[in-house]
Amino acid sequence: MLSEFDLIQRYFNWPTENVVLGIGDDAAIIAPMKGVELAISADSLVVGRHFFDNADPYKLGFKSLAVNLSDMAAMGAIPKWVTLSLTLPQLIIDQHESWLSEFSKGFRELAQTYRIELIGGDTVSGPLNISIQIIGEVEKGYCLRRDGAQLGDDIWVSGYLGDAALALKHELRNFKLNDNEAFYCKSALHMPIARVELGQRLVGLANSAIDISDGLMADLGHILARSEKAATIELSTIPVSEVMKRYLSTSIAIECILTGGDDYELCFTAPKMNRDAVILLGRELQLPLTIIGEITQQKSQTPNLVVINNNKKVILEKNGYDHFVT
Ligand code: ADP
Ligand code: MG
Repeated sequence: MLSEFDLIQRYFNWPTENVVLGIGDDAAIIAPMKGVELAISADSLVVGRHFFDNADPYKLGFKSLAVNLSDMAAMGAIPKWVTLSLTLPQLIIDQHESWLSEFSKGFRELAQTYRIELIGGDTVSGPLNISIQIIGEVEKGYCLRRDGAQLGDDIWVSGYLGDAALALKHELRNFKLNDNEAFYCKSALHMPIARVELGQRLVGLANSAIDISDGLMADLGHILARSEKAATIELSTIPVSEVMKRYLSTSIAIECILTGGDDYELCFTAPKMNRDAVILLGRELQLPLTIIGEITQQKSQTPNLVVINNNKKVILEKNGYDHFVT
C-alpha cells in the first residue's frame, strides 16, 4: 500500500518557485516581502483516528492547537495566527452549550498563553474533524529545518518519550496502568506541551530539528533522510518518565519509547561544541534535554538508523506511525 510519504511525493509535491522551504519539513517557509519570513503548517485531528468520539472537548481544543504549535516549535518559529476549520456532527451542534463552549475554552486558553490570534476558518457539518492552519514568524534565514544534520552532531531529545503511547495502550486495554500512572500518562496524551520556547532558543544552536509526532524512529528517520545522514542511538539513554521506568522490561514499553506517536517533544541535532550551551538552555527552561546518539555517515546497504541496546542492535518491526500503512 502507498505510504503517506509516497502519496504526497507522487501526487502533491510539485515544483515551486517562490518558496524558501517547501513540502517535506514541519512547516513551509515563505518570504512574502523583503526581510520577512513566515512559517506555515496545517494539521488535522479526525475522530476515530486521532481521538475517540467521547473525548473531553476542553482537552481536544487544547490538543488541536498544541499539535500545531509543536510544528512551529520544530521550525524555531514564533506562532502568531491560526485558522480553525471545524466539521461538526449534528449532535454537537445541538449540544453546543456543553461541547463547543468547552472546546473553544481549551483552544482559547492555550492561544492566549502564546498570544496567538484566531483569524478565520470554516464550519461545516459532517463527521467530527478539526483542521488548523498555523502561521508563525521566523527571522530571515534562521529557522530550524530537518535537512541540516551534520556528521558527528549529537542527537538530542527534550522531555520524556513514550508516555502518550503508553496511555493509549492503556485506554485501548492493551496495557494496564494503575490509576496514578494512568493519570500521568493520559495528561501527556491529551494535553501535550509543545516545546515552543525551546524551538526558538535552539535557532543558532541546533543544525536540524523535528517534532516527534509519529514516534522517535520515524521522525528522526525524516531528519536522516532529508539530511542524507545515518545515526546510531543508544536505547538506555532515551529519557523516560518514572512511570515508564517501571515497565522497561516489557516490549510494549520499548515499542512506545521508540515508535509510539503523540510525544510532541523535539528531536534535534547539534554540533558537539554546542553541548554546554544546550545543557545550560535545558536548565534555564527547566526541561530535560538528553543526548541519545550521534549522526553518522550514510552508507548504502546499511539501515540509516541503528538502535543499540547492551551492545546489540535492536530489531523493530515498524518504525513509527504511518497514516496509510498499519
Ligand atoms: P508533520 O508530521 O510535521 O505534520 P507530515 O508528515 O504531516 O508533517 O507532512 C510532511 C510534509 O508533507 C509537510 O511538509 C506537509 O506540509 C506536507 N504535506 C502533507 N500532506 C500534504 C498534501 N496533501 N499536499 C501537500 N503537502 C502535504
Ligand atoms: Mg511535525
